[in-house]
Amino acid sequence: MKYVFFSDIHGNLEALESVISFLRREKPDFSVFVGDAVGYGADPAGVVSLLQALPFPLSSVAGNHDWAVLGKTDIDCFNPMAREAVLWTADRLRQCHFSFLESFPLVFGKDEFKVVHGSLYRPDRFYYIFSSTDARRCFDLLQKKICFVGHTHCPGIYACGKNAVRFFSGEHLRLCRGWRYLVNVGSVGQPRDRDPRACLCSYDSVKEIVSYHRLEYNIASAAAKIRKAGLPLFLAERLLLGC
Ligand code: ZN
Repeated sequence: MKYVFFSDIHGNLEALESVISFLRREKPDFSVFVGDAVGYGADPAGVVSLLQALPFPLSSVAGNHDWAVLGKTDIDCFNPMAREAVLWTADRLRQCHFSFLESFPLVFGKDEFKVVHGSLYRPDRFYYIFSSTDARRCFDLLQKKICFVGHTHCPGIYACGKNAVRFFSGEHLRLCRGWRYLVNVGSVGQPRDRDPRACLCSYDSVKEIVSYHRLEYNIASAAAKIRKAGLPLFLAERLLLGC
């Protein structure tokens, strides 16, 4: 089976369109969206509508920004820019968009993998996995071979063997027997690893290979819409920098 995982679109329609073109080309057997359809970007309704109308199977999990616009998480713990964007976004969504976001579970499982936006440890708290210690807490709850996550907007893979947790970056990783993996799929609409191209991840369960893909998209257009919408200017600038 060939799977594609993508996360953290954050209202960036141009970036999502590049992902849809990739999916049409690559024709995976199954795709999973790892959360945060909205927040930060200027096209939340367009993004949610496009996800709703995909002509191929897609499962999704909820991100903290999806929960925030639904009023399911306290935005007092968001930074001021994120909070402003959540309120702006909630004003631009209609009932059909809210219902779609509401349908996202916190955790999704299929075959040999689980999917969660932040961590399997208290998924409703959306903890970040930035270190081996954070990763261990998630591995302790992982009973399958792989867990795909998003949330940090930084691609990378933690591997857990008998006595060690190791971190891998790079374009491809061949999985080994007896190890379990925590794969951060990066961000489609607001990458923060200094590469501004949209990031997504594929998994070939026959070859046991995880691969990252970077896609060019019209960043200038997405950034211009953020400025025109009156959202914080840094939200436009960071798209160009990938930070
Ligand atoms: Zn995010």
